[in-house]
Amino acid sequence: MAGKCLKCGETAKIQQLCKKCFLDSYSNIIGFKKFNLAVCMDCSSYCYGKQFRPAISQDKDLLKTIRKAFYENTKFKQKPEKFEIKVKIPKHTKKQGTKLYLKVRISVLTRIGEGKSALIKKEEFEFQLRFKYGICEKCNLGRSNYFEGRIQLRNDKNHSFEKAAEFIREKVKKAKNIFITKEMKTKNGIDFYATSQKYIQTVGAELSKRFGGELKITSSLQTMDWTTSKELYRVDVLFRLSEFNVGDIIKINKKLILAKSISGKMASGFDLKNNNKPAKENYTNKEYEIIATTKDYKEVNVVKSIEKKVKGKKELYIEVLSPEDYQTVKLENPKDIKKEKDLINVVIIDDKVYCVSF
Ligand SMILES: [Zn+2]
Ligand SMILES: [Zn+2]
Repeated sequence: MAGKCLKCGETAKIQQLCKKCFLDSYSNIIGFKKFNLAVCMDCSSYCYGKQFRPAISQDKDLLKTIRKAFYENTKFKQKPEKFEIKVKIPKHTKKQGTKLYLKVRISVLTRIGEGKSALIKKEEFEFQLRFKYGICEKCNLGRSNYFEGRIQLRNDKNHSFEKAAEFIREKVKKAKNIFITKEMKTKNGIDFYATSQKYIQTVGAELSKRFGGELKITSSLQTMDWTTSKELYRVDVLFRLSEFNVGDIIKINKKLILAKSISGKMASGFDLKNNNKPAKENYTNKEYEIIATTKDYKEVNVVKSIEKKVKGKKELYIEVLSPEDYQTVKLENPKDIKKEKDLINVVIIDDKVYCVSF
């Protein structure tokens, strides 16, 4: 029912108003919070409140950072179609403390309704922005070389070394207000300088559980803070990846052990030659050899699984399809494998086939 516009008397199209009067009265911007903007000159994170927000890579462009800050401080009724800013950034030196006053023109385009009958509303406003180059907390810590402790990751020959290093970086990145302020390469590893001695001990414990190796925590008195008379300790968390990894098969003490955990000097796992009997060996005392790693695992099908009587005892007898010549071959350690057609991992050592799926 087309009536007349309540404001001007033209034909009403929408909410008892004509197009023009409707657009005049419509506003998508329902709020704008005034702010000052600081941008970290080292990492481009930005701050308009209490805390610096991490820059995403595209924000390294100052204009995009300013746009983002304006967008985040404007409240809309609905998501605008376009949000643009115009600002002339005068020539300036990028250094800590540099202040700029920037005249920013914001323009917002909003689509109301859909299809052919959609209306476009344009809103514009201007704002004088106080802008400053600063240094965020994180970069500030990095600059000051502040640290409470180190994680000393060692044995870069271990093929999990990079994974372990990445594990440390990710762990610290996720922790609130804890940072790695420096990474130093050493002869066979990396020292991670971190801002929380408590947290690096947690990371150390997790490293040891996940990767296997030797964990040693030491603390040493560094200095006395004369303003507070507090003693300052530094904590070093040394984690040495073992020579081998969980999942590797090592030959030690005439056994073939599939390592399931490595902690300190002890490697525990299953003795493959002894039908998976649990085994534990101090690998630092004896000569050992890494016979196979997880890269040597091959997937095969169980083709035969029967019970045989050997010396009056029931024993499982299993055949698999050899990954080398596709002949059926006897599995040396059949314990705990139940069915035919099971898919299992095996390794071949001295022409014998061992299951390594546990
Ligand atoms: Zn009207
Ligand atoms: Zn920064």
